Amino acid sequence: MTTFQAPKGTYDLLPPDSATYLAVREAIAAPLRNSGYGYIETPGFEDVELFARGVGESTDIVTKEMYAFETKGGDRLALRPEGTASVLRAALEANLHKAGNLPVKLWYSGSYYRYERPQKGRYRHFSQVGAEAIGAEDPALDAELIILADQAYRSLGLRNFRILLNSLGDKECRPVYRAALQDFLRGLDLDEDTLRRAEINPLRVLDDKREAVQRQLADAPLLRDHLCDACKAYHEEVRELITAAGVAFEDDPKLVRGLDYYTRTTFEFVHGGLGSQSAVGGGGRYDGLSEMIGGPALPSVGWALGVDRTVLALQAERVTLDIPAATSVYAVPLGEEARRVLFGVVTELRRAGVAADFSFGGKGLKGAMKNANRSGARFALVAGERDLAEGTAQLKDMESGEQVPVALDAVVSTLRARLA
Ligand code: ATP
Ligand code: MG
Repeated sequence: MTTFQAPKGTYDLLPPDSATYLAVREAIAAPLRNSGYGYIETPGFEDVELFARGVGESTDIVTKEMYAFETKGGDRLALRPEGTASVLRAALEANLHKAGNLPVKLWYSGSYYRYERPQKGRYRHFSQVGAEAIGAEDPALDAELIILADQAYRSLGLRNFRILLNSLGDKECRPVYRAALQDFLRGLDLDEDTLRRAEINPLRVLDDKREAVQRQLADAPLLRDHLCDACKAYHEEVRELITAAGVAFEDDPKLVRGLDYYTRTTFEFVHGGLGSQSAVGGGGRYDGLSEMIGGPALPSVGWALGVDRTVLALQAERVTLDIPAATSVYAVPLGEEARRVLFGVVTELRRAGVAADFSFGGKGLKGAMKNANRSGARFALVAGERDLAEGTAQLKDMESGEQVPVALDAVVSTLRARLA
């Protein structure tokens, strides 16, 4: 028989480690929920053109990393490589921006797909939690998102991360800078691919990870020196608001992001313990994206944080999350009659909101207690024929080892009280 393995560049989340992933998603979502962001879920695939136009024809994501396919019905679709284009598409389609309540603030959590060269922290299937604030141009909104991401990472116990901040200008000042950068790049000793990129999307060259390229870029003109007054004032306000919130950041005048749609504020969260896959999250303002995908002008800002890399960052900092045991009570029946009675008690406990599990499969006392231990339950509830005859079960405190008989009809109230 053939056995199967997870596809290249993917991995399975299994207990107990999967609990950490859930906790990370929850920790990132909590500050958003607490700040007026509503949950949105969109399909795992979209019209391929949405990404081609929304993410950018010349980006690595669209040219190299997208899982695009044609359906039997002849539709050209792609597995979503990122969240922003889909969320904006959905908001426009549902006219959320016309409900008179801008910005529309949304958060999401899900799987994303990129055909990349798999390595630690870089997978073909990965998981993000993201946030988008659609339809407002307000530096406080950019600041809010950066502050909330910082809060999320801190709530997880992460310390060894940095926030890199830049402004990419707008449609007034960026074209002027773009031309100046292009002039500069044309004079460098670059390979053919990079020269082509310099013609199509020169800002992306700044993002080149290769040492030899970076050395040549030392004297590249910086967008910082070309920002128009409006962009300069906007950026200054974002910086002041973040600073006032006590969130430390670093100005990184060469920070550009892999997606074409960013304008003005761009930022990245990088972690020191992840080697070359150092970005744990990133985002920025995308004032032109709505128009690029056929919508009205809707200045917006958002970020996406990678769950996989956040978990790796926790490991790098040796932070273990305090994840409470899933099970509070583990029932161990000895014999047929006890099996029926304790199964009834477990059902009652669950209905009363007490997390309870049961020793299935007719195990003996020793094996069943081993499982009770493994479950992490605070209490074991053991009953045999003699207990039943007395209308009781033995309640064992797994921490102290202390064991007391409890009347069967008082088990639920007793456990609720002792677990409270
Ligand atoms: P990189 O520069 O490392 O390729 P990116 O700029 O492509 O990252 P974004 O598109 O900004 O990444 O996605 C936001 C976050 O999603 C990243 O910071 C990272 O944590 C995560 N992420 C992106 N691609 C992958 C991947 N292939 N595997 C795991 N996580 C990823
Ligand atoms: Mg990438």
